[in-house]
Amino acid sequence: MQFIDLQRQYKALKNLIDNRVAKVLAAANYIGGAEVKELSANLARYCGTEYCLTCANGTDALTLALRCFNVKKGDAVFVPDFTFFASAETPALEGATCVFVDADRRTFNIDAEKLDEAISEVIKVGKLNPKVIITVDLFGLPANYPAIKKVAAKYGLPIIEDGAQGFGGSINGKKACSFGDISTTSFFPAKPVGCYGDGGAVFTDNKEYYELMCSLAVHGKGEFKYDNVRIGYNSRLDTLQAAVLLEKLAAFENYELSERNKIAKSYTKILGEKFVTPLVPEGFVSSWAQYTLILNDENERAEIQKKLKEKEVPTMVYYPKPMHEQTAFNKYADRSQKLKTSAELAKCVLSIPMHPYLTEEEIQKVCSALLECR
Ligand SMILES: *Cc1c(COP(=O)(O)O)cnc(C)c1O
Repeated sequence: MQFIDLQRQYKALKNLIDNRVAKVLAAANYIGGAEVKELSANLARYCGTEYCLTCANGTDALTLALRCFNVKKGDAVFVPDFTFFASAETPALEGATCVFVDADRRTFNIDAEKLDEAISEVIKVGKLNPKVIITVDLFGLPANYPAIKKVAAKYGLPIIEDGAQGFGGSINGKKACSFGDISTTSFFPAKPVGCYGDGGAVFTDNKEYYELMCSLAVHGKGEFKYDNVRIGYNSRLDTLQAAVLLEKLAAFENYELSERNKIAKSYTKILGEKFVTPLVPEGFVSSWAQYTLILNDENERAEIQKKLKEKEVPTMVYYPKPMHEQTAFNKYADRSQKLKTSAELAKCVLSIPMHPYLTEEEIQKVCSALLECR
Protein backbone atom coordinates (compact mmCIF):
# COMPACT_ATOMS: atom_id res chain seq x y z
CA MET A 1 0.00 0.00 0.00
CA GLN A 2 1.24 3.47 -0.88
CA PHE A 3 0.81 6.51 1.39
CA ILE A 4 -0.17 8.51 -1.73
CA ASP A 5 -0.54 6.33 -4.83
CA LEU A 6 0.43 8.45 -7.83
CA GLN A 7 0.97 5.41 -10.04
CA ARG A 8 -2.62 4.32 -9.59
CA GLN A 9 -3.77 7.81 -10.45
CA TYR A 10 -1.64 7.85 -13.60
CA LYS A 11 -3.10 4.50 -14.64
CA ALA A 12 -6.61 5.93 -14.31
CA LEU A 13 -5.79 9.10 -16.27
CA LYS A 14 -3.12 7.70 -18.61
CA ASN A 15 -4.87 8.20 -21.96
CA LEU A 16 -5.96 11.73 -21.16
CA ILE A 17 -2.59 12.81 -19.79
CA ASP A 18 -0.58 11.09 -22.53
CA ASN A 19 -2.65 12.82 -25.22
CA ARG A 20 -2.24 16.21 -23.58
CA VAL A 21 1.51 15.73 -23.20
CA ALA A 22 1.87 14.50 -26.80
CA LYS A 23 0.15 17.67 -28.01
CA VAL A 24 2.66 19.85 -26.17
CA LEU A 25 5.57 17.85 -27.54
CA ALA A 26 4.22 18.21 -31.07
CA ALA A 27 3.71 21.96 -30.71
CA ALA A 28 7.09 22.38 -28.93
CA ASN A 29 5.80 25.41 -27.00
CA TYR A 30 7.49 24.32 -23.81
CA ILE A 31 7.29 27.70 -22.07
CA GLY A 32 4.14 29.78 -22.11
CA GLY A 33 2.12 27.46 -24.37
CA ALA A 34 -1.66 27.63 -24.75
CA GLU A 35 -2.13 25.08 -21.94
CA VAL A 36 -0.70 27.53 -19.39
CA LYS A 37 -3.34 30.12 -20.24
CA GLU A 38 -6.12 27.53 -20.29
CA LEU A 39 -5.04 26.20 -16.91
CA SER A 40 -4.90 29.64 -15.23
CA ALA A 41 -8.42 30.36 -16.48
CA ASN A 42 -9.68 27.00 -15.17
CA LEU A 43 -7.99 27.53 -11.80
CA ALA A 44 -9.47 31.03 -11.37
CA ARG A 45 -12.91 29.72 -12.31
CA TYR A 46 -12.60 26.79 -9.90
CA CYS A 47 -11.53 28.97 -6.97
CA GLY A 48 -13.84 31.86 -7.85
CA THR A 49 -11.15 34.55 -8.11
CA GLU A 50 -10.72 37.24 -10.77
CA TYR A 51 -7.11 36.33 -11.46
CA CYS A 52 -4.77 33.37 -11.29
CA LEU A 53 -1.11 33.29 -12.26
CA THR A 54 0.71 29.96 -12.39
CA CYS A 55 4.34 29.90 -11.24
CA ALA A 56 7.25 27.57 -10.57
CA ASN A 57 6.26 26.23 -7.13
CA GLY A 58 4.29 26.97 -3.97
CA THR A 59 7.26 28.60 -2.27
CA ASP A 60 7.72 31.10 -5.11
CA ALA A 61 3.98 31.76 -4.98
CA LEU A 62 4.39 32.93 -1.37
CA THR A 63 7.37 35.09 -2.30
CA LEU A 64 5.45 36.73 -5.17
CA ALA A 65 2.59 37.48 -2.79
CA LEU A 66 4.88 38.90 -0.09
CA ARG A 67 6.53 41.21 -2.63
CA CYS A 68 3.11 42.82 -3.31
CA PHE A 69 3.01 44.02 0.31
CA ASN A 70 6.62 45.21 0.25
CA VAL A 71 7.52 42.96 3.18
CA LYS A 72 10.98 43.88 4.49
CA LYS A 73 13.32 44.12 7.46
CA GLY A 74 11.60 45.57 10.51
CA ASP A 75 8.24 44.05 9.57
CA ALA A 76 6.39 41.45 11.61
CA VAL A 77 4.70 38.71 9.61
CA PHE A 78 2.32 36.51 11.60
CA VAL A 79 2.71 32.84 10.67
CA PRO A 80 1.21 29.63 12.07
CA ASP A 81 3.73 27.79 14.24
CA PHE A 82 2.43 24.44 13.02
CA THR A 83 3.05 24.34 9.26
CA PHE A 84 5.51 23.38 6.53
CA PHE A 85 8.73 25.40 6.63
CA ALA A 86 8.05 27.40 3.43
CA SER A 87 5.21 29.39 5.08
CA ALA A 88 7.80 30.90 7.44
CA GLU A 89 10.90 30.70 5.27
CA THR A 90 9.54 33.08 2.63
CA PRO A 91 8.82 36.09 4.91
CA ALA A 92 12.16 35.48 6.66
CA LEU A 93 13.89 35.58 3.27
CA GLU A 94 12.38 39.03 2.66
CA GLY A 95 14.09 40.13 5.88
CA ALA A 96 10.91 40.22 7.98
CA THR A 97 10.58 38.75 11.47
CA CYS A 98 8.22 35.80 11.74
CA VAL A 99 5.95 36.02 14.75
CA PHE A 100 4.72 32.48 15.25
CA VAL A 101 1.16 31.90 16.37
CA ASP A 102 -0.07 28.79 18.15
CA ALA A 103 -2.38 26.21 16.58
CA ASP A 104 -5.94 25.36 17.46
CA ARG A 105 -5.70 21.85 18.89
CA ARG A 106 -8.65 20.32 17.05
CA THR A 107 -8.25 21.81 13.56
CA PHE A 108 -4.41 22.16 13.51
CA ASN A 109 -4.90 25.63 12.01
CA ILE A 110 -3.90 29.04 13.35
CA ASP A 111 -5.83 30.04 16.50
CA ALA A 112 -7.60 33.34 15.70
CA GLU A 113 -7.69 34.50 19.33
CA LYS A 114 -3.98 33.90 19.75
CA LEU A 115 -3.37 35.70 16.47
CA ASP A 116 -5.13 38.75 17.92
CA GLU A 117 -2.97 38.49 21.07
CA ALA A 118 0.24 38.18 19.03
CA ILE A 119 -0.54 41.26 16.94
CA SER A 120 -1.45 43.39 19.96
CA GLU A 121 1.74 42.19 21.69
CA VAL A 122 3.88 43.32 18.74
CA ILE A 123 2.15 46.71 18.70
CA LYS A 124 2.67 47.09 22.46
CA VAL A 125 6.39 46.27 22.30
CA GLY A 126 6.70 48.71 19.41
CA LYS A 127 9.84 47.29 17.78
CA LEU A 128 8.33 45.74 14.67
CA ASN A 129 5.84 46.97 12.13
CA PRO A 130 2.90 44.52 11.80
CA LYS A 131 2.63 43.86 8.04
CA VAL A 132 0.91 40.69 6.88
CA ILE A 133 -0.93 37.67 8.26
CA ILE A 134 -0.08 34.35 6.62
CA THR A 135 -2.71 31.68 7.14
CA VAL A 136 -2.29 28.02 6.18
CA ASP A 137 -5.06 25.59 5.26
CA LEU A 138 -3.26 22.73 6.96
CA PHE A 139 -3.95 19.17 5.84
CA GLY A 140 -6.62 20.50 3.44
CA LEU A 141 -8.91 22.21 5.95
CA PRO A 142 -9.46 25.94 5.36
CA ALA A 143 -8.31 28.06 8.32
CA ASN A 144 -11.00 29.78 10.38
CA TYR A 145 -11.45 32.70 7.97
CA PRO A 146 -14.65 34.11 9.50
CA ALA A 147 -12.70 34.74 12.74
CA ILE A 148 -9.32 35.55 11.11
CA LYS A 149 -10.85 38.17 8.81
CA LYS A 150 -12.25 40.01 11.84
CA VAL A 151 -8.79 40.13 13.41
CA ALA A 152 -7.23 41.27 10.11
CA ALA A 153 -9.83 44.05 9.76
CA LYS A 154 -9.32 45.15 13.38
CA TYR A 155 -5.62 45.83 12.72
CA GLY A 156 -5.91 46.69 9.02
CA LEU A 157 -3.61 43.83 7.95
CA PRO A 158 -3.77 41.92 4.65
CA ILE A 159 -4.01 38.13 4.58
CA ILE A 160 -1.90 35.81 2.45
CA GLU A 161 -3.62 32.43 2.34
CA ASP A 162 -1.07 29.64 1.96
CA GLY A 163 -3.38 27.15 0.27
CA ALA A 164 -0.61 24.73 -0.75
CA GLN A 165 -2.53 21.94 0.97
CA GLY A 166 -5.93 23.57 0.92
CA PHE A 167 -6.83 23.60 -2.78
CA GLY A 168 -10.34 22.14 -3.13
CA GLY A 169 -11.48 22.89 0.42
CA SER A 170 -14.28 25.36 1.12
CA ILE A 171 -16.30 27.22 3.73
CA ASN A 172 -20.04 27.44 3.05
CA GLY A 173 -19.35 26.91 -0.66
CA LYS A 174 -16.57 29.54 -0.93
CA LYS A 175 -13.43 27.84 -2.19
CA ALA A 176 -9.98 27.78 -0.61
CA CYS A 177 -7.42 29.95 -2.44
CA SER A 178 -10.01 32.74 -2.51
CA PHE A 179 -9.81 33.76 1.17
CA GLY A 180 -6.63 35.82 1.11
CA ASP A 181 -6.02 39.28 -0.34
CA ILE A 182 -3.61 37.04 -2.23
CA SER A 183 -3.80 33.24 -1.99
CA THR A 184 -1.21 30.71 -3.06
CA THR A 185 -1.08 27.03 -3.83
CA SER A 186 1.41 24.31 -4.76
CA PHE A 187 1.23 21.56 -7.37
CA PHE A 188 4.01 19.50 -5.80
CA PRO A 189 3.12 15.89 -6.76
CA ALA A 190 1.85 14.90 -3.31
CA LYS A 191 -0.55 17.84 -2.89
CA PRO A 192 -4.31 17.41 -3.48
CA VAL A 193 -3.77 18.50 -7.11
CA GLY A 194 -0.19 17.76 -8.13
CA CYS A 195 1.78 17.92 -11.36
CA TYR A 196 4.71 15.78 -12.52
CA GLY A 197 7.38 18.01 -11.05
CA ASP A 198 7.19 21.40 -9.34
CA GLY A 199 4.42 23.93 -9.86
CA GLY A 200 2.42 26.59 -8.07
CA ALA A 201 -0.07 29.42 -8.47
CA VAL A 202 -1.23 32.71 -6.96
CA PHE A 203 -4.84 33.90 -6.83
CA THR A 204 -6.30 37.35 -6.24
CA ASP A 205 -9.21 39.64 -7.10
CA ASN A 206 -6.84 42.64 -7.15
CA LYS A 207 -5.66 43.66 -10.62
CA GLU A 208 -2.69 45.67 -9.32
CA TYR A 209 -1.31 42.72 -7.32
CA TYR A 210 -1.92 40.40 -10.26
CA GLU A 211 -0.06 42.61 -12.72
CA LEU A 212 2.82 43.11 -10.29
CA MET A 213 3.15 39.34 -9.79
CA CYS A 214 3.02 38.75 -13.58
CA SER A 215 5.98 41.10 -13.88
CA LEU A 216 7.91 39.70 -10.90
CA ALA A 217 7.56 36.12 -12.18
CA VAL A 218 9.29 37.04 -15.45
CA HIS A 219 12.41 38.96 -14.34
CA GLY A 220 10.46 42.10 -13.42
CA LYS A 221 9.39 42.66 -17.02
CA GLY A 222 7.79 45.94 -18.04
CA GLU A 223 6.23 46.71 -21.43
CA PHE A 224 7.92 43.75 -23.10
CA LYS A 225 10.30 40.90 -22.33
CA TYR A 226 13.54 42.89 -22.59
CA ASP A 227 12.19 45.89 -20.69
CA ASN A 228 12.96 45.19 -17.03
CA VAL A 229 11.45 47.61 -14.54
CA ARG A 230 12.13 45.81 -11.26
CA ILE A 231 14.19 42.94 -9.85
CA GLY A 232 12.17 39.77 -10.18
CA TYR A 233 12.51 36.03 -10.63
CA ASN A 234 12.28 33.31 -13.20
CA SER A 235 9.17 31.60 -11.87
CA ARG A 236 7.02 30.02 -14.56
CA LEU A 237 4.96 26.87 -14.74
CA ASP A 238 6.05 25.10 -17.92
CA THR A 239 3.61 23.93 -20.58
CA LEU A 240 4.09 20.19 -19.92
CA GLN A 241 3.13 20.65 -16.27
CA ALA A 242 0.12 22.75 -17.29
CA ALA A 243 -0.99 19.97 -19.67
CA VAL A 244 -0.79 17.38 -16.88
CA LEU A 245 -2.62 19.71 -14.49
CA LEU A 246 -5.49 20.35 -16.91
CA GLU A 247 -6.40 16.65 -16.76
CA LYS A 248 -5.65 16.34 -13.04
CA LEU A 249 -7.85 19.33 -12.22
CA ALA A 250 -10.70 17.87 -14.27
CA ALA A 251 -10.44 14.53 -12.44
CA PHE A 252 -10.22 16.36 -9.10
CA GLU A 253 -13.42 18.27 -9.88
CA ASN A 254 -15.25 15.27 -11.32
CA TYR A 255 -14.60 12.68 -8.65
CA GLU A 256 -11.29 12.83 -6.77
CA LEU A 257 -12.34 15.46 -4.23
CA SER A 258 -15.54 13.60 -3.42
CA GLU A 259 -13.62 10.30 -3.19
CA ARG A 260 -11.21 11.88 -0.71
CA ASN A 261 -14.17 12.98 1.38
CA LYS A 262 -15.81 9.56 1.21
CA ILE A 263 -12.61 7.91 2.39
CA ALA A 264 -12.15 10.43 5.21
CA LYS A 265 -15.73 9.77 6.29
CA SER A 266 -15.08 6.00 6.42
CA TYR A 267 -11.89 6.54 8.44
CA THR A 268 -13.70 8.79 10.91
CA LYS A 269 -16.61 6.39 11.28
CA ILE A 270 -14.40 3.37 11.97
CA LEU A 271 -11.55 5.02 13.91
CA GLY A 272 -13.63 7.61 15.78
CA GLU A 273 -14.56 5.15 18.54
CA LYS A 274 -10.97 4.72 19.70
CA PHE A 275 -9.00 7.66 18.27
CA VAL A 276 -9.11 11.45 18.13
CA THR A 277 -9.97 11.96 14.45
CA PRO A 278 -9.71 15.26 12.53
CA LEU A 279 -12.44 17.81 13.20
CA VAL A 280 -14.16 19.48 10.26
CA PRO A 281 -16.26 22.41 11.55
CA GLU A 282 -19.85 22.91 10.34
CA GLY A 283 -19.91 24.38 6.81
CA PHE A 284 -16.24 23.54 6.16
CA VAL A 285 -15.04 21.05 3.52
CA SER A 286 -11.50 19.65 3.59
CA SER A 287 -9.56 18.49 0.55
CA TRP A 288 -7.80 15.98 2.83
CA ALA A 289 -4.23 16.68 1.85
CA GLN A 290 -3.62 14.55 4.94
CA TYR A 291 -5.79 12.52 7.29
CA THR A 292 -4.21 13.10 10.68
CA LEU A 293 -4.91 11.44 14.04
CA ILE A 294 -3.97 12.87 17.44
CA LEU A 295 -2.41 10.15 19.60
CA ASN A 296 -1.63 10.22 23.33
CA ASP A 297 2.08 10.97 23.19
CA GLU A 298 5.37 10.41 21.40
CA ASN A 299 5.83 6.91 22.83
CA GLU A 300 2.46 5.69 21.67
CA ARG A 301 3.09 7.21 18.25
CA ALA A 302 6.43 5.42 17.88
CA GLU A 303 4.82 2.14 18.91
CA ILE A 304 1.86 2.50 16.54
CA GLN A 305 4.12 3.52 13.64
CA LYS A 306 6.23 0.42 14.24
CA LYS A 307 3.24 -1.93 14.42
CA LEU A 308 1.69 -0.47 11.28
CA LYS A 309 4.99 -0.73 9.42
CA GLU A 310 5.14 -4.46 10.26
CA LYS A 311 1.72 -4.77 8.62
CA GLU A 312 2.91 -2.74 5.61
CA VAL A 313 0.67 0.21 6.37
CA PRO A 314 2.69 3.40 5.72
CA THR A 315 2.33 6.39 8.05
CA MET A 316 3.95 9.83 8.20
CA VAL A 317 4.50 12.50 10.84
CA TYR A 318 3.45 15.96 9.63
CA TYR A 319 5.13 17.77 11.32
CA PRO A 320 7.63 16.56 13.90
CA LYS A 321 8.85 20.09 14.76
CA PRO A 322 6.91 23.35 15.01
CA MET A 323 8.54 26.42 13.44
CA HIS A 324 9.80 27.87 16.73
CA GLU A 325 11.80 24.71 17.40
CA GLN A 326 13.51 24.74 14.00
CA THR A 327 17.24 25.44 14.18
CA ALA A 328 16.84 28.09 11.47
CA PHE A 329 14.39 29.99 13.69
CA ASN A 330 15.88 29.40 17.12
CA LYS A 331 16.32 33.10 17.73
CA TYR A 332 12.55 33.55 17.74
CA ALA A 333 11.98 30.88 20.36
CA ASP A 334 11.24 33.50 23.01
CA ARG A 335 7.52 33.05 22.34
CA SER A 336 7.73 29.30 23.08
CA GLN A 337 5.66 29.73 26.25
CA LYS A 338 2.81 30.78 23.99
CA LEU A 339 3.25 27.98 21.48
CA LYS A 340 2.44 24.99 23.63
CA THR A 341 -0.33 23.49 21.50
CA SER A 342 1.78 23.29 18.36
CA ALA A 343 4.70 21.81 20.33
CA GLU A 344 2.33 19.21 21.76
CA LEU A 345 0.76 18.42 18.38
CA ALA A 346 4.20 17.83 16.88
CA LYS A 347 4.63 15.00 19.39
CA CYS A 348 1.20 13.38 18.94
CA VAL A 349 0.13 13.66 15.29
CA LEU A 350 0.17 10.75 12.87
CA SER A 351 -1.01 10.84 9.26
CA ILE A 352 -2.35 7.71 7.58
CA PRO A 353 -2.67 6.80 3.86
CA MET A 354 -4.92 9.25 2.00
CA HIS A 355 -5.52 9.47 -1.74
CA PRO A 356 -8.62 9.11 -3.93
CA TYR A 357 -7.66 5.66 -5.25
CA LEU A 358 -7.61 3.79 -1.91
CA THR A 359 -9.72 0.64 -2.13
CA GLU A 360 -12.30 -0.49 0.43
CA GLU A 361 -9.95 -3.35 1.42
CA GLU A 362 -7.07 -0.96 1.98
CA ILE A 363 -9.23 1.31 4.16
CA GLN A 364 -10.27 -1.73 6.21
CA LYS A 365 -6.65 -2.86 6.50
CA VAL A 366 -5.47 0.55 7.76
CA CYS A 367 -8.32 0.74 10.25
CA SER A 368 -8.01 -2.76 11.67
CA ALA A 369 -4.25 -2.34 12.05
CA LEU A 370 -4.89 0.85 14.03
CA LEU A 371 -7.74 -0.54 16.13
CA GLU A 372 -5.57 -3.50 17.15
CA CYS A 373 -3.10 -1.02 18.67
CA ARG A 374 -5.55 0.21 21.33
C1 LIG B 1 4.13 22.24 0.06
C2 LIG B 1 3.91 23.48 0.81
C3 LIG B 1 4.50 24.69 0.43
C4 LIG B 1 5.54 24.81 -0.65
O1 LIG B 1 5.19 24.33 -1.88
P1 LIG B 1 6.33 23.91 -2.95
O2 LIG B 1 5.58 23.76 -4.21
O3 LIG B 1 6.91 22.63 -2.46
O4 LIG B 1 7.33 25.00 -2.99
C5 LIG B 1 4.18 25.83 1.15
N1 LIG B 1 3.35 25.79 2.19
C6 LIG B 1 2.77 24.65 2.60
C7 LIG B 1 1.83 24.68 3.76
C8 LIG B 1 3.05 23.45 1.95
O5 LIG B 1 2.48 22.32 2.37
